[in-house]
Amino acid sequence: MAKTIQAIRGMNDCLPQMSGAWNRVEETIRQVVANYGYQEIRTPIVESTDLFKRSIGEVTDIVEKEMYTFEDRNGDSLTLRPEGTASCVRAGNEHGLFYNQQQRLWYMGPMFRHERPQKGRYRQFHQFGVEVYGLDGPDIDVEVILLSARLWKVFGMSEHVKLQINSLGSNEARQAYRDALVAFLTKHEDKLDEDSRRRMTTNPLRVLDSKNPQVQSVLADAPSLLDCLDVDSKEHFSQLCERLSQAGIQYEVNPRLVRGLDYYNRTVFEWVTDSLGAQGTVCAGGRYDGLVEQLGGKPSPAVGFALGLERLVLLLETLQGSAFEHAAADVYVCALGQEAEATALNLAESLRDELPQCKLMMHCGGGNMKKQLKRADKSGAKVALILGSEEITNRTATLKPLRLEQSQQTVEFDNLAATIATLIEVK
Ligand code: ATP
Ligand code: MG
Repeated sequence: MAKTIQAIRGMNDCLPQMSGAWNRVEETIRQVVANYGYQEIRTPIVESTDLFKRSIGEVTDIVEKEMYTFEDRNGDSLTLRPEGTASCVRAGNEHGLFYNQQQRLWYMGPMFRHERPQKGRYRQFHQFGVEVYGLDGPDIDVEVILLSARLWKVFGMSEHVKLQINSLGSNEARQAYRDALVAFLTKHEDKLDEDSRRRMTTNPLRVLDSKNPQVQSVLADAPSLLDCLDVDSKEHFSQLCERLSQAGIQYEVNPRLVRGLDYYNRTVFEWVTDSLGAQGTVCAGGRYDGLVEQLGGKPSPAVGFALGLERLVLLLETLQGSAFEHAAADVYVCALGQEAEATALNLAESLRDELPQCKLMMHCGGGNMKKQLKRADKSGAKVALILGSEEITNRTATLKPLRLEQSQQTVEFDNLAATIATLIEVK
């Protein structure tokens, strides 16, 4: 037997038993963004390596060790996108979407990072994100947070996620804080791990992000970013806090929240959960007012977030379990004998015309009634529609409920659509 080939480590297949859940999640997201007037942008999965180096930052986990970078046949350095914001800004600059304009955009698709695969952390994963350009006030920060909060609401998981916010201030304020932090870290250098010691000189704010508990305990006494904020950022942040409270959104200010990418300024936020173990951040974002200009465009303020779809699906599975299962069909059509099969085919087509929301699956491959009903059950259908010679003569079909304790009924062809609609509750 030939040796089988396996998928790349950390890159998952989405099998039929899960694709229903994924579709439901994606459709719900599309509905929610439409409700807020956001428009979709789709960008290529591969970009110039420089795009990510210049935007995400050279001294970040992503650029230092997680990118899938390769040489194109003509020698250009290309990278599979590790996130969506850089591509979005690149596309907006390239097509003139930003200058003197406001844009509310969203995207959804695969991202690639060479990380150690574990639950909630993969090498190909999927993000849904929103990006808003041309607005600099706290009102739009609140809107994107409300949009994310609405997702938790429609997925019925609001109690299981908590919002953390912080402000990184202006670039100058961050520089001042950087100096204060380096002074503090230098004093405690002996208690830092190797990674943090290296970052202390290259990118000290990233030390705040350390997952090492010993480093975190040192950081408990570190100076707070919030104390170094410039006046405007302070005002922006206090208005954000006030508006979140007015909107009924509970939050916690986490002065050590810095996010793993360089382009953020002012507002940063994360939605975290206790229900996923170590990979607890489901959604993360913030302001990145300097990035459009940094990538060659005219300055435009921007704010956005990215949500990890694998973590969302995992969370929904954990919280909702079997409620998350989906059936392939609502109605399973069984036909006994060749004449019935021919009639059933046409009947199924006209029912699909009349009931476009109904998932109607046709039995193929013949067999006796017992075998066909077994398949009907396996399909997850609520009702089996049965056609035999007697039914054909009378132009009727038998509807047999498969899930509920209801008796079967014989229904004339003309009334079938209406009866099925009530049985499976679709119109
Ligand atoms: P983490 O701290 O978990 O590594 P991050 O700061 O690298 O997250 P972002 O770049 O902000 O993550 O990405 C936004 C969201 O995308 C994360 O909150 C998470 O839900 C999801 N995500 C990031 N990396 C992965 C991955 N390797 N596998 C699955 N989901 C991921
Ligand atoms: Mg990461």
